[in-house]
Amino acid sequence: MIPERILNWINGEEVPAESGEWLEKYDPHTGDLQSHAARSREVDISAAVEAGKRAQPAWADTPPVQRGLILHRIVRLMQDYQQDIGDIVAAETGKGPTAGYGETGGAIQCGLFYASEGQRLYGKTTTSGVENKYAMTVRMPVGVAGLIIAANTPIANVAWKVFPALICGNAAVLKAAEDTPATAWMFGKIAKEAGLPNGVLNIVQGYGPEAGQPLVEHPDVDIISFTGSTSVGKLVQRLAADRLAKVSLELGGKNPLVVCDDADLDNAARWVLLSAFSNAGQRCAAGSRIIIFVSVYDEFVEMLIERSRQLRMGNTDNDDLGPVINERQLENMLEAVKIAKGEGARILYGGERATQPDLASGYYMQPTLMDNVEPKAEISCTELFGPIAILYRVAGFDEALALANDSPYGLTSCIHTRSIHRAMRFTEKVYTGVAVVNAATYGSEPHMPFGGTRSSGNGSREPGTEALDVYSELKDIYINTLPEHL
Ligand code: NAD
Repeated sequence: MIPERILNWINGEEVPAESGEWLEKYDPHTGDLQSHAARSREVDISAAVEAGKRAQPAWADTPPVQRGLILHRIVRLMQDYQQDIGDIVAAETGKGPTAGYGETGGAIQCGLFYASEGQRLYGKTTTSGVENKYAMTVRMPVGVAGLIIAANTPIANVAWKVFPALICGNAAVLKAAEDTPATAWMFGKIAKEAGLPNGVLNIVQGYGPEAGQPLVEHPDVDIISFTGSTSVGKLVQRLAADRLAKVSLELGGKNPLVVCDDADLDNAARWVLLSAFSNAGQRCAAGSRIIIFVSVYDEFVEMLIERSRQLRMGNTDNDDLGPVINERQLENMLEAVKIAKGEGARILYGGERATQPDLASGYYMQPTLMDNVEPKAEISCTELFGPIAILYRVAGFDEALALANDSPYGLTSCIHTRSIHRAMRFTEKVYTGVAVVNAATYGSEPHMPFGGTRSSGNGSREPGTEALDVYSELKDIYINTLPEHL
């Protein structure tokens, strides 16, 4: 299913990197070499941007309803190929096949939503202060969109950016995540089969500094939408600032989940473990700071430890969590845990690389729970992007809310309580882009705007109709009629 050599899609053609170089992609479950992808550099990025620039005017002239019909064809083919796409996602990330299939279903849902936006793309008509003058707004495309994505939910990440960018009449250059090259390649193959005009979507493979950065710096890229770490996001913002290119940043999180003394503890424990450990904790919306009322702390922590013991690691549908995406990520986590331990953290569960014979060569981090960590400690303030959660004790609601908000990030949050007042107060006062009651810190839907405050983003929201604001410019139109010619 995964080609041994994964090429770029430029102007509707599969092409290798100009230099003939390849990057190596490893299977996170086994640690074995899985594929090679084109190791693109500036020259390849320029070719992709030029193809986009050439194709964009005709695409922008294609009526939005027609654009939507072409996107619908992509969606229909994604449905036909859902199993294949899901299998590629699973193989590249190490998640189970059903999880890969389900993620593809989410990407399809996202595509359906935006394909249908071709029949809306609403502007507004309004009043004028002047006689015989009419005022309205319309959306116009921005131009060429540079799209850079992370590997954690690879087909969803592709869909989240490509569909809104294209329905708005932009051409796009997608820089695939280096850890999931085949997923992006497969999407390119489907787009070609669906009849998307050549050059409207170009997909380049490669490493961030070599392929992503030239895309950000390219003078003909008018909008950059980036999903990834806060540190690279800040660099993207700085580089794009020079030419005032539009930038949308979807960055990391260190998301709090509060467990009150009146919570349904059984339900809360279930969602804490899913928030912290599902997808091996590789979600921007993962719950990594678990804030627990002191009166239920010991009982709840026991429940978490007991249930963590029952979690299975592996890449099948019967497993609860898979590997992290690469060796470097695993090493970062092990180092962070080691430092925290040195500073007095108590490891309640896990904390090590998995040693089971069938997992030892993969990038498996044990699901890890720890406490005795200061809220200002490095590990409390840094996203680890893996199955590691820190537990904190608080006296009551006010302290819980203050601790939830005491973070450099502000992406998602959750509270478990039976009190409608606590739920309303929390969702009103927590300074995050998403707030959830009685479930997980993750679970955003494609028709809803997603994004965060502080270091979790730059204020933009994707997807939902709000993404249309990212991928289009508003234009005011004033029509003055000539009544004397009646
Ligand atoms: P990363 O920032 O290292 O890489 C993300 C992407 O940026 C990759 O495609 C990479 O090649 C590229 N990149 C790296 N350096 C670059 C540079 N100098 N210029 C341009 N592009 C560059 O992040 P990662 O570790 O691969 O992904 C995990 C991060 O993504 C986490 O922080 C996670 O929270 C975040 N994320 C956020 C969301 C969201 O919607 N907020 C969703 C998924 C993941």
